[in-house]
Formats: sequence, C-alpha cells, structure tokens
Amino acid sequence: MKWNSQILNLNAYQPGKSIEEVKRAYNLEHIYKLASNENPYGYSNKVKKVVDEEGSSTFSYYPDGYATDLRGELSKFLGIEPTKLIFTNGADELLHIIAKALLASGKNTVMATPTFSQYKHNSLLEGAEVREVPLIDGEHDLNGILDRIDHQTAIVWICSPNNPTGIYISDANLQEFLNQVPKDVLVVLDEAYFDYVCADDYYDALSLVNKYSNLIVVRTFSKIYGLASFRIGYGVASEEIIKALEPVRQPFNTNVLAQKAALAALKDQEFVTRCRNLNREELERFYQFCDQHSLKYYPSQTNFILIDFQCDGDEVFSFLLSKGYIVRSGKQLGAPTCVRISVGTREQNEGVMKAMEAFLNHTSAIK
Ligand code: PMP
Repeated sequence: MKWNSQILNLNAYQPGKSIEEVKRAYNLEHIYKLASNENPYGYSNKVKKVVDEEGSSTFSYYPDGYATDLRGELSKFLGIEPTKLIFTNGADELLHIIAKALLASGKNTVMATPTFSQYKHNSLLEGAEVREVPLIDGEHDLNGILDRIDHQTAIVWICSPNNPTGIYISDANLQEFLNQVPKDVLVVLDEAYFDYVCADDYYDALSLVNKYSNLIVVRTFSKIYGLASFRIGYGVASEEIIKALEPVRQPFNTNVLAQKAALAALKDQEFVTRCRNLNREELERFYQFCDQHSLKYYPSQTNFILIDFQCDGDEVFSFLLSKGYIVRSGKQLGAPTCVRISVGTREQNEGVMKAMEAFLNHTSAIK
C-alpha cells in the first residue's frame, strides 16, 4: 500500500477503559467511570423529552446539513450572527477540519505540552511540523509559544481551560498574547470546558472573536450539556474563517437527533447552572482531600482535576481500577506522576477519595 508516510507512526486515539471491560476483568459489581470528563448528572429532562418523542420516521431522511434551527437558536443565545458559526460532529471534528484546511508538509503549528492530544494528532496527520512548548506549572507559556511562531506557522492551538491541567488563561494574558500573534496565523481557542469556568478574570471569547480576525473559538455540547454520545460541537469565528472551513466539513456531519438534543439542551440553562455549581462544590472537596493528604493538585476551572501522586501514574490508575474507579493515568496525558479524575457525583467522589486514601496507606505501608 502507498500509505502517506506521516500516518505510519500514528496511533489511534486511546479512549478511557469501558465500564464493561473493567467489570469483567475485576469481577466487580459497581464500576464508576471518572475518566472522560462527562457530565455525571446526565442531561436535561428537556433533552430526554425530545429524544423520547422523536419518531424514527425522520431517520430515513438526511439531516439538515446547515443545522438551521440549532444555528438560529444558538446565534440568539450567544448574541452573534448565524454566519459566524460552524457545527461539527463533536469538537473533535472541528479540530480535524481546521488542521485539514490549514496544515500540510512544509508548514508548522505551535501548541503547549501537555495539552489535548488531538491538536498534535491532527497536525501530524496533515504532515505538518509540530512545535510543542512545555507548560509552566500547568499554565500555557504564552511567550514561549510566541517565540516559536515563524513565517511557516499556520495554527497556534490554545486550550483554555487546559486539558489535562484544568488551568485557564486570564483575559489580560490572553489579549496580550493575541495582540502579538501575526494576523495570518489562526489561533484556535479550545473552550471545551468553558461552561464550567467560574473565575472572575476569565475572558469573553465571543467578544474576542469580533476583535481578533484570526481567532476561532471551539466549543462542545459533550461536557456540561451531557451530550457526549450525540457528537455535536461548534466553532465561532469571523465569516471569512467560517466560509473557508465550511467546504472541508462533510455535508451531513451532524445528525438529526444531535441537532434536536443540542437545541433542547440550550433551552435549559437552569440545568447548566445547577451542574456548574455542583461541580464547583465537588471540586472544593477534592482540593480539601489533596490538602489533607499533602498531594499537589492543579486548581481547575473544569470538571476534572489533575493530582500529582509523585509516583508512577499507572500504579495509582491500576490501584483505583481494582477498587472500581476508572480514572486516567497521567502517563498517557504527558503528566507521568499524576492521575486525572473527572469530578463525579458526591457518592462517586467520596468513593474515589476513599480509594485514593487506601492507595496512600498501601504505598506508605510498603515504603
Ligand atoms: N477539546 C478538549 C479540550 C477536550 O477535552 C475534548 C474532549 N475530551 C474535545 C475537545 C472534544 O470534544 P467532543 O466530544 O466535542 O469531540
């Protein structure tokens, strides 16, 4: 086969372990998945109603490729023109589309490390050179990123709040950075966890889109809206950027149910606020736990927390797995002594903290 050379060293995305897989392997009755930053409270009852009522008769027709109804509702909700939106099969697809539209062999792209794996993956797929700039104590090194930009740079990826550290960039720092990025370099601002942010000095990404013509904001319905399996995300950018990206997406990339579910989800902002508040309360409990046990953690503006156990993250991961908690080993995420834990319900969080305590007792006993 004449495979493109750049794909030969790439691996497929490694998802977190499935509940069924762990049940079988450990013979456990209850398994809790705190690995993929999903919403532990599910989704709004308004979504449930729409999904239950959606007759299967419409499934034989192609969906509305332009997602007209959802576009109208979201544009009203966000207060931006409908022409400044693009809808995709999860935010993942948008990242892929952006890389496809701008990257190729001979060009380069700059990003933090560790950050969300798909920026690098999609860039390598297109044959571009990837320039990674290490985080400084969990934060983007924005000056370091600026230093790596040159005439061949086509995209800079910024994840705020960052996955896997959960740390956000302040409004002042982000704008200082955007002021210095050349206007022909696209800045991708991935705000997958935007809805969880509570920090006062967070920026208003949509007004930044109006101010910076080289900015695209990436968001998703997979997290606080609880629609991960529907696969629906969107981008907000200038009309010129959206126009350039539209031909790259598949004609029917978002399906009927996903569009309807997202539309219903948008209409229940009470659910969103409730989830954000519960998440914040539970995060505080994780902070307390870490302080009590002298564990370093990264202050998070998301629905996950990265905790540094100062030992092999795989070891912590395996121990927690044996107790029925699927988390993410930092080893796969570029933070080898850490684990990343999605914030669950009170019961799930108490359980995983108990399991972490057992791990700490177990390791101090064998030291
Ligand atoms: N960006 C970040 C930072 C993420 O963490 C994720 C999901 N883990 C995505 C994008 C992709 O989200 P989606 O489910 O919408 O494809």
